[in-house]
This record gives sequence, structure tokens and C-alpha cells, in this order.
Amino acid sequence: MRSLTFNQLQLRILLILFLFFISALVGYRYFIELPKLERSIASIAEGELDILTFSIENMLKNASLTNYDYAVWTSTYDFMVSQNQSYVDEYLVDDTFVSLSIDGMFFINKDLEIVFAKGFHSKIEKPLEFSFYDFKKHPENLSILPAPEKGRGSSSKKGFLSTKNGPAIYSVNQVRTSDSGGEHRGFLISVKLIENIFTEDLSKYTSTNITFFPEHENIDFKTIKVWNKKKNLFSVQPYTDILLEDMNGRPVAVIKMEHSVGYMPNLLNDKILIFTLLIIFIFYIFYRFISTTIIFPVNKLSRDIESRHSSNKHTKLSEKYTIKELITVSKNVNKLMHIVQTQNELLAKQANTDQLTQVMNRYGLETELNKYENQCIRFNVGFIAIMCDIDNFKIYNDSFGHIQGDTALYKVAQSLKQHCKRPTDILARFGGEEFMLLFSEMPEKCLRKKMQAIISSIEKLTIPHSNSPKAAHVTISLGATIVRPSDVVDFSLPINEIIKTADNALYQAKDFGRNRFIINNFSSKN
Ligand code: GH3
Ligand code: MG
Ligand code: MG
Repeated sequence: MRSLTFNQLQLRILLILFLFFISALVGYRYFIELPKLERSIASIAEGELDILTFSIENMLKNASLTNYDYAVWTSTYDFMVSQNQSYVDEYLVDDTFVSLSIDGMFFINKDLEIVFAKGFHSKIEKPLEFSFYDFKKHPENLSILPAPEKGRGSSSKKGFLSTKNGPAIYSVNQVRTSDSGGEHRGFLISVKLIENIFTEDLSKYTSTNITFFPEHENIDFKTIKVWNKKKNLFSVQPYTDILLEDMNGRPVAVIKMEHSVGYMPNLLNDKILIFTLLIIFIFYIFYRFISTTIIFPVNKLSRDIESRHSSNKHTKLSEKYTIKELITVSKNVNKLMHIVQTQNELLAKQANTDQLTQVMNRYGLETELNKYENQCIRFNVGFIAIMCDIDNFKIYNDSFGHIQGDTALYKVAQSLKQHCKRPTDILARFGGEEFMLLFSEMPEKCLRKKMQAIISSIEKLTIPHSNSPKAAHVTISLGATIVRPSDVVDFSLPINEIIKTADNALYQAKDFGRNRFIINNFSSKN
């Protein structure tokens, strides 16, 4: 598997969490909340339909009550037999139609003949003509009449019917004296046109918007709800069509109810959007928090360790972190770096140190000579190389043995080291009983003084050398060469030639009798 950065890992985890959260949210809304909501909205609509049915029933009942009042009067009973004008003038005037909101009244005797009929538009107050009540021509209309009651009381019927003036409510009552089992004299029919007043009233009762469609030719009546039959709604719909049927089950009119809650709420509404934005914001805050508290410090530590490695620098890592584990890591890396560093230094020292004399060896000397050479070439700083050789040391070894020779060598080396005062002053064992000293340029007078001091310091060691032809103690001879910036040719100095010149000076010192020094000026031109 491809390895990821801490940050990439975090981003992936957050993305997965975010997707999980969003799908849980959407899933909950789609599969749990929305069906519940749909059911409750549908039951609100069903409740509205129930109220509508109840209101229509009430309106019909009211119409029937008015009609009943007329039908049970003795004067109506009389009117069925002798249609006296005074009854008409008193009870069937236009105002009666207006005040009772009735648009037609029809009196039918027991032989089913119409003895009186009057149509009057109660709203616009104009005479109306009806033609449906010719039962001889249209016997099917007889079904609006109830069967005459033979016992006590009187029969009645009410419902809807189509008239040439439009759909209407009708109400029929049997005409019988005082409702107490008198002779059957016929029927009284009153008609109210279903016009705006009807739908307006229904709108008021149901608190919904109700519209009325007298033209209903294009409607498939089989699919729509009949006003007094229960129907469960299975989906949320803005409107429900309700069919009003006549006594023969034929469509009379369609009314349309606009439900108070007709639409499902949008899944991705503003609130969900704001909520999602809020979630994104929270995830962002979480991301920033993780980034600053975990990822940034881990990255920093990783970069710091990497930079120490690549630049080979050994500065300590910061030990201030917000996470304790990182502090432990950085502390331990620092400890490890320290161990490696000291080991390296020790190794470097050992690699550059002569075991016997504990001063720099030949290998170290070469490095230091190169440094002096660079100094001279780049910064025009001259230097001095002094070759030192113990006098008659072979005789010393032959006289006292190599072990004592080694001790003498060590003492001489340590004494020579005392003359290296500055960090740039170098002493190295050149080989055998020969050493080399390196100093930065100094006036010749100072150099002479220094070389004399070296010779004196070895003499002062008073290492007994009874067989020496020179003195009773160990002495040393020195040959120096002064290298000046003017000796640099083509940005280089011939190191071997420098050593050779110092060697020559040493030989001269030996030739002149040992225990002395000779200074030669180096010149690359010679
Ligand atoms: P001169 O005054 O001309 O320098 O005479 P010399 O005897 O010192 O010169 P030579 O080069 O003939 O002898 C050097 C001696 O140094 C030979 C060797 O035994 C001795 N020597 C070299 N390295 C060591 C060492 O590591 N330990 C001991 N004990 N002696 C050493
Ligand atoms: Mg020698
Ligand atoms: Mg010697």
C-alpha cells in the first residue's frame, strides 16, 4: 500500500467521516422522516375531506329542515288539493326564496302531478325555469321521491341533481298533515343551486380553498372520490377532486379541495443546507485542531530530524511540543545525536592521534597543513613549519632500550606541545623521533625566540643520555621554513617542497652540531 503523509491520512479519514455523516443524514430523512411526514400530511388531508363530508351533510340537513317546516303545515296540505292564490301570495313570494336561499319550489300531488312550480334565483333575484320534473316524460326522475310513509311521521329525501340551471341540492318531504299519520297528499321539493355560495360556505367550514366545476366532461369519474364515501390518500397531493352524484349515481358536479398542506417539504431545503454547511465548518475546525496539535508538530519534528541528517548539523532539536510522546522522541533523538557526535569526535581524534606520544599523527598533520595552505592562498596569511628531530636517539635506544626510548619520546612530545598556545598552533609526530610544528606567520625575531625556547624546554627535561656525544641529556634540533603569501603560485603551494625545505634546515642544524635551530625561507620559485 502506498504510504501517506499524516495530513493526507487525516484528510481521508475526515472525508470518509463526512460522507458517512451526510449519507446517514440523507438516509434518515429519505427513509424514516419523509415517509412519516408523508403519512401525517396525508392524514391532515383526509381529515379535511372528513370535515367536507360532514359540512355537506349538514348543508343538506339544513335544506331539508326548511322544507320539512313547509311540508307539515296544514295550509300546504290544503294547497295540494286546492291551489289557492293566497297561499302563493303569502308563502311563495320572491322574498321567501331570497331569505331562505332557495332557487326552486315544486309541489307534487299524490298522483305525481305538479300542482305548483316556481323557480327564482335567490342570488340574482330573477325568475328561473326548470324542466326536469315532468315525471311522465322522465320517469327516471321519480327516484328523487321517497316512498310515502304510511305509518306515523313523513318520509323525506335529499341529495344532488343536475338541472338545466346547473347542479343543485334538492330536498323532498312528504306532505302530510301535522306529521301524525294523516293522509298522503304528495311531495314538496325545494331546490338550491350549487353556485359560489355553496363552495364559499364549504371553504369557510373546512378552512380550505374549494372550487366548483360545473363542467366536468373531461374528468374520469371512476377514479375520483364520491363526496360521502371514505377514501384513504396514499400520497400527498395538493388537490382532491370530489364527485357529487345524483340519486341515480350520475355525476352532478365536481368540487376541488385545495389541501392546506399539499406538498412534501423539499429534502434539500435551506435548513438542511445550513446544517450541512455547519457540519462542514465543524469538520474544518476539527481539521485545523488536529493539524495544529498533532500534524504540524509531527511534521516539524520529522523535518527537523531530516534536516539534521542532510545538513550533518548536530544542533539540538526543540523539545517543546504539545504532545508528550513527541517530547520523548525529540529528547531521545537529542540524546542519540549527542552519543553519535561524541563517538564521532572520539573516533576522529583517535584517527588523528599518535598512540605512543598522544599528539597528532601524520594523517592529522596533512589535514592541518592543507588548512594552513588554504589560509595562505585565500586570506594571504603566511605560516611556519618546523621539523624537530631528537639528537642521537638511536644511541639512546641502544643504551637504554626501546621501552625507555618510548618514554623519552613521549616526554619530548608533551614538552613540545606546551609551545602550542593558540588553537591554530599544531604539533604532530612526523615519524620515528621526528615531529612537526605549525604556526601562523610571526616576525622572524619572535620565531627565533620561540625556537630557542623549544630547544631550552627539551634541555630542561634533563632526560639522561650519558652516551650522547652532544650532552649528558636528550637534546633536539629544529629546522624551520617560513612560507609567505607571496610564495603562492597559481593558487597553490607545494606542500612536499615546504617539508623538504624544513628538512634541509634540520639537516643544516644537525651538520652545525645539533641542539640548535636553522630557519630557511621557503621560495617556490627556487
Ligand atoms: P641524529 O642525531 O642524526 O638524528 O641521530 P639519530 O640516531 O637520532 O638518527 P637515526 O635516524 O639514525 O635514528 C633514529 C632512531 O629513532 C632509530 C630508531 O631506533 C629510533 N626510533 C624511531 N622510532 C622510535 C620509536 O617509536 N620508539 C623508539 N624507542 N625509538 C624509535
Ligand atoms: Mg630522525
Ligand atoms: Mg634523530
